[in-house]
Amino acid sequence: MIGVKKLSRPKEMPLGERVYLKEILRGLSVTINHFVRNLANPRRIPTIDYPEVKRPVPPRFRGRHRLTKRDDGTPRCVACFCCATACPAYCITIEAGEHPEPGIEKYPVRFDIDMLRCVYCGMCVEACPCDAIRMDTGWYTLPERGREDLVYTIDSLLKD
Ligand code: SF4
Ligand code: SF4
Repeated sequence: MIGVKKLSRPKEMPLGERVYLKEILRGLSVTINHFVRNLANPRRIPTIDYPEVKRPVPPRFRGRHRLTKRDDGTPRCVACFCCATACPAYCITIEAGEHPEPGIEKYPVRFDIDMLRCVYCGMCVEACPCDAIRMDTGWYTLPERGREDLVYTIDSLLKD
């Protein structure tokens, strides 16, 4: 036998509840409260005018790479391929050339880093025996118009 249970219908909600008046007013009071507090003390506003203003990065932050230079402005890199070998993402391409100075064996004719593949692990910096590559620029905004612009060449990596 099937039992039938009678349920009482819920009472119709008052108009204020149906249009969420109380919740809307509560939300507005939170917004107005923050607005007035920030207006009274703008220095406490946690947001910044990015990208004009950038947050400082910690000293060990790994940002965009750069190649360091000798005193005469030439790259310190001796094209030993240690960084390219250590790179787990295979994103460093180096072509070595014979250096005109007899004391230096080689120099990079080409030194590209494909930032679309880079995982910012810092292995290239660790592997370099000449302190020729660093990631201390603090630069973390890399948007470009095309993929090819994200392959950094030796000229851009040597820029101060
Ligand atoms: S940070 Fe890592 S992934 Fe990027 S170039 Fe260096 S070794 Fe390769
Ligand atoms: S950056 Fe350093 S590790 Fe890489 S090729 Fe140049 S000298 Fe070698």
